[in-house]
Amino acid sequence: MLHFPRVYFTIQPMSRETEFFKSCRRIALMGGTFDPIHYGHLAAAEAVLQAYKPQRVLFVPSAAPPHKKNRAVTDAEHRYRMALLATAAHPAFEVSRLELDRPGPSYTVDTVRELRSLCPPAAEIFFIIGADTAEEIKTWKEPETLLALCEVVAVTRPGFKADALARDFKGRVRVLETPAIDISGTEIRRRAAAGESARYRVPPPVAEYIRDHRLYTNRAGIPAGFDFESAKATLADRLSPDRFRHTLGVIEAAEELSARFGADAGKARIAALLHDCAKEYSNGKKRALCQLWNIPTDDILLAQIDLAHSLLSAESAKRDYGVYDGEILQAIRYHTTGHGAMTALDKAVMLADFIEPYREDYPGLGEIRELSRISMEEALVYGITSVIQNNEDRKRLIHPWSKAALKSLTSKA
Ligand code: ATP
Ligand code: MG
Repeated sequence: MLHFPRVYFTIQPMSRETEFFKSCRRIALMGGTFDPIHYGHLAAAEAVLQAYKPQRVLFVPSAAPPHKKNRAVTDAEHRYRMALLATAAHPAFEVSRLELDRPGPSYTVDTVRELRSLCPPAAEIFFIIGADTAEEIKTWKEPETLLALCEVVAVTRPGFKADALARDFKGRVRVLETPAIDISGTEIRRRAAAGESARYRVPPPVAEYIRDHRLYTNRAGIPAGFDFESAKATLADRLSPDRFRHTLGVIEAAEELSARFGADAGKARIAALLHDCAKEYSNGKKRALCQLWNIPTDDILLAQIDLAHSLLSAESAKRDYGVYDGEILQAIRYHTTGHGAMTALDKAVMLADFIEPYREDYPGLGEIRELSRISMEEALVYGITSVIQNNEDRKRLIHPWSKAALKSLTSKA
């Protein structure tokens, strides 16, 4: 299930700031989806501030962007709040609700017209636009009116050719050379969907907001803000040194196996990182958390509660580390026993646990490592068989999941 947490109330500025507009001499505005706002936008706005000295720069998040119909744009209130967070510390930067509070799609020309009507006739209005987007003005609503109502300033973006722009608009668009920053909303969303952080691309409070609200979660549900390195640092503190070293080994092995046998390596490393996150809880805590979190248990899991660490680790991965991806959670949940319908990811994580490089030698390790070069299934059959044997010798109960895993793996192998 994919959640986009709802925003329950709208933040309104104290007034519509009509007082300011009434005496405004020079103002710049930057329209955009700001999904999310990033350092590219802020650097561009700062460059315009330095170059043309407007009294304020207004960031105007669009409501329903007419040019971006091909993807679901994040809830306007989230985009507005991120813009507020990003600009909070800058006295000259403001975020405007002009477009958010106007029903229907946002057209820049309507926004500039509205701003004009609020300002004295002599006021100068600069409209800031990325040079890439400036080319598109011709396709916007009433481009001629727009160019007449304001000064368009095209700020350079990487890979942009200023000449074409000057030619196309016959000098009616100013080009402001800025240190081109190769950051885009698209790239941030893509990274977020892959579980990579937005750090260094957006101001820290925006990165935090994206993480907290799980914005840009991809369909599979890797949280936007899932920051592998910071989760790893957290686990380095929480796990014992041996367990942490083992975890690093499993990450390494799981990535390698995924690459070799066609599982998703990005998911494998997250599953591996978190596979034992609940392993070191006391038995009492394991039992308590199974109840608290409504984790379905059975007689065997209750009798041998250490087995439940896989289930608890999966639950904690979700609750405490923000991982919502069903495939990752499944790989964690079944990494000890396996199950009757294992995916390549499940296999890679479970097998990595068997063969990770820092493991102390145990009977059969060499054989499993050897087999894992050829076939994950054969290696797992060997591993699971020895585990079952070993547990039977110790008079422990064998969970049906292990038997189901063995059965399905032998029938295919
Ligand atoms: P997306 O990738 O979703 O299109 P974006 O990063 O282009 O996001 P928008 O909200 O579409 O952001 O952009 C608003 C305005 O900011 C546009 O005029 C765009 O050209 C400009 N802009 C965006 N990123 C930069 C950047 N790195 N440098 C200069 N201008 C930028
Ligand atoms: Mg864009």
